[in-house]
Amino acid sequence: IHDRDKKLRDIVAAATTVSLSPHRKHIPANKDLVFGKTFADHMLDVNWDSKNGWAAPEIKPYGNLSIAPSATVFHYGVECFEGMKAYKDKSGSIRLFRPDMNMNRLFRSCQRLALPEFNKDELLKSIEQLLLVDERWIPSERGYSLYLRPTAIATQESLGVGASSNAKIFVIASPVGPYYKTGFAAVSLSATSHYVRAWPGGTGDSKVGGNYASGIRPQLEVAQHGYAQNLWLFGPDDNLTEVGTMNLFLFWINKAGQRELVTPPLDGTILPGVTRDSILSLARSWGEFEVAERPVTMPEVLEALKEKRLLEMFGAGTAAIVSPIKNIGYKGTDYAIPLDPSDPSSQAGNLTKRFADTIMGIQYGEIPHEWSVVV
Ligand code: PMP
Repeated sequence: IHDRDKKLRDIVAAATTVSLSPHRKHIPANKDLVFGKTFADHMLDVNWDSKNGWAAPEIKPYGNLSIAPSATVFHYGVECFEGMKAYKDKSGSIRLFRPDMNMNRLFRSCQRLALPEFNKDELLKSIEQLLLVDERWIPSERGYSLYLRPTAIATQESLGVGASSNAKIFVIASPVGPYYKTGFAAVSLSATSHYVRAWPGGTGDSKVGGNYASGIRPQLEVAQHGYAQNLWLFGPDDNLTEVGTMNLFLFWINKAGQRELVTPPLDGTILPGVTRDSILSLARSWGEFEVAERPVTMPEVLEALKEKRLLEMFGAGTAAIVSPIKNIGYKGTDYAIPLDPSDPSSQAGNLTKRFADTIMGIQYGEIPHEWSVVV
């Protein structure tokens, strides 16, 4: 399918043009930041067409896009995106966390939607240029960051369902605070099987907008019953897949009596999270307990709970790093999930906290690691 892309011009970061905004917007104080409400002064915009390929990337004032109402994105949801953060370390350097993984995932999401391929390194370099232009928007306090939203859309002016002859990648940036401002707050989940987030051969392993559109109503429905998020189940055995928009981890004593960290495998129904991969590789490098990527069912979780083998459960994603789970509603019964048995007031287990501290330490350059890339 992608032969067309190879002959065409690719993204060239060095060709990026910069048109500065005449207005420098007011940046809210850190304490007033609300996720995704305020946007930096500039955006990155790169256009593609099937005759010429990628045009020169443009850094320009953040503003409305002008797109025909007939554009494919508005009719068939041909859109995918990324979520990543830029951090300011103590010495004032700008850092990204494993940005190559976000570029790879955007590339694969584009492939899944027959959107054009692009040079991942060059797109990243253009994003880094945007960060330099909007550096003042990167909060410097630990826990704060500039959230980046690379987005790809099909812009062909046609109602035909087919590969788009025109496309656009744009990147906007929004300063954000820590997910947990006053320490962890463990969440209560509703195990959901009548709505399905993803299925084999679908798009659940890509970061496409449609996956999220169909998750909003299920979330509202469980919120009416006091649950924060859906725990997405799949299949006849009620396999656990993901939590809201996070990957899922369990720490337990397995049937063989070993301490084990488990997460569902990348079987097509799971988004390959950057945080997920980071947690797995940290855990494997520590070598202190078993680490497994394998299916887990609700009956297995209930059995482990009954036998007091379940130690901790948490969601994992860029927004929160980890999100401890304290309760699961399943078939009309609420099951309490252990947090920290040594401290009843604690909102997170020790392993959950250790992952959060380690990853945050790496993100802010306090723990030297190849994952943290200085811009
Ligand atoms: N699963 C889903 C469905 C998500 O939307 C996200 C957030 N991108 C994640 C998992 C976590 O991925 P990451 O660690 O890359 O943020």
